[in-house]
Amino acid sequence: MSGGKSDTELPTRLVTGGRRREWTGAVVNPPVWRASTHLYDSVADLRAGKASNEDGRFFYGRRGSPTQWALAEALTDMEPGAHGTMLFPSGVAAIACALLAVLRPGDVLLMADSSYDPTRIYAEAFLKKWGVETRYYDPLVGAGIADLICEQTRAILMESPGSLTFEVQDVPAICAVAKEHGITTLLDNTWAASYFFRAIEHGVDIAILAGTKYIVGHSDVMLGSVTTHEKYWTRVRRTAQQLGQIVSPDDAYLALRGLRTLDVRMRQHQDGGLAVAKWLADQPQVARVLHPALPDCPGHELWRRDFSGAAGLFSFVLDGGGEEAIAALIDDLALFGIGYSWGGYESLALPIDPTPDRTATRWKAEGPLVRLNIGLEDPDDLIADLAKGLERYEKAACRR
Ligand SMILES: *Cc1c(COP(=O)(O)O)cnc(C)c1O
Repeated sequence: MSGGKSDTELPTRLVTGGRRREWTGAVVNPPVWRASTHLYDSVADLRAGKASNEDGRFFYGRRGSPTQWALAEALTDMEPGAHGTMLFPSGVAAIACALLAVLRPGDVLLMADSSYDPTRIYAEAFLKKWGVETRYYDPLVGAGIADLICEQTRAILMESPGSLTFEVQDVPAICAVAKEHGITTLLDNTWAASYFFRAIEHGVDIAILAGTKYIVGHSDVMLGSVTTHEKYWTRVRRTAQQLGQIVSPDDAYLALRGLRTLDVRMRQHQDGGLAVAKWLADQPQVARVLHPALPDCPGHELWRRDFSGAAGLFSFVLDGGGEEAIAALIDDLALFGIGYSWGGYESLALPIDPTPDRTATRWKAEGPLVRLNIGLEDPDDLIADLAKGLERYEKAACRR
């Protein structure tokens, strides 16, 4: 652990993070250490190994090797004020473990109504059975979260912006209320990738990333991470170890390779995303663009206040039309794949319906919603592709 070096700028830390000489040897990157058994020099050495449970000490494969330690340290370095990072085989595994580490049966969890749906499923299917009740809040609640707190409230799980509908939350206000009540705050920071939003610095106790998205950046690895304030470090680390969570050195290596170029990729995702979003906002077939950097997005002012930039993932609402029109738009796009996940170098388009995943708020829109992951292609090519798609949509919508 390095405790989050804040003496250099983030782009520099993305290059230097985790590159300790004792882990990399004489080469630039830490090698892929494939290991279950670590061999000790002696019985005394074996016993000494038990004395410490921190990254940087060989113990057994489940506690990782320099490949995983380097990635964890580099991720910690991205969040000033953080103490350490645990790695997980997926973003969902990271969320599940972080919640298990702070909740107990009988507790109440507050969760944003705009949360990623597998997070909701985990709460409804697993946490409920385990005796934890989840109550959902309007993502725009801000300091009004105070009215939802009861004696049993133990934790608040935020996701800002939501990854389907992009409401930006007042994370500092929610964290301030939580601190007054001794409640733990967790943030799914995947959209901002710890790059455009510094969670711990804004008061969050536990920052979670689906590294699968921007950290890996190449659509080829599943990964999750939990980065915590010192206060929660031991609890999260122990829980992850008790659950046997470990990331393979090969996946850690690829994630670290992705991380090294995060700065240039995020700036390009931002530029491409904004170019496409602004163009869409001017199209007659488009009712609204839900992009945190554009004024139509709920919480846009908070984004301006708290974020240093915008990722390349956003949605737009079409002006009417149904299933057939949506398919006409998306099916024949040449440069946008149809698929889940996002944050990769390639663009994706996905039809989405937030309605069934809402209980505290109601989703109201002029028409169907499409989410775009803007990759690293030339934005003019993406716009030309979408222009043809909107023409097909218009024809299909008119036929109805
Ligand atoms: C994808 C995603 C996750 C889950 O990550 P996986 O690695 O797919 O398990 C969590 N939160 C958000 C916001 C996501 O988009």
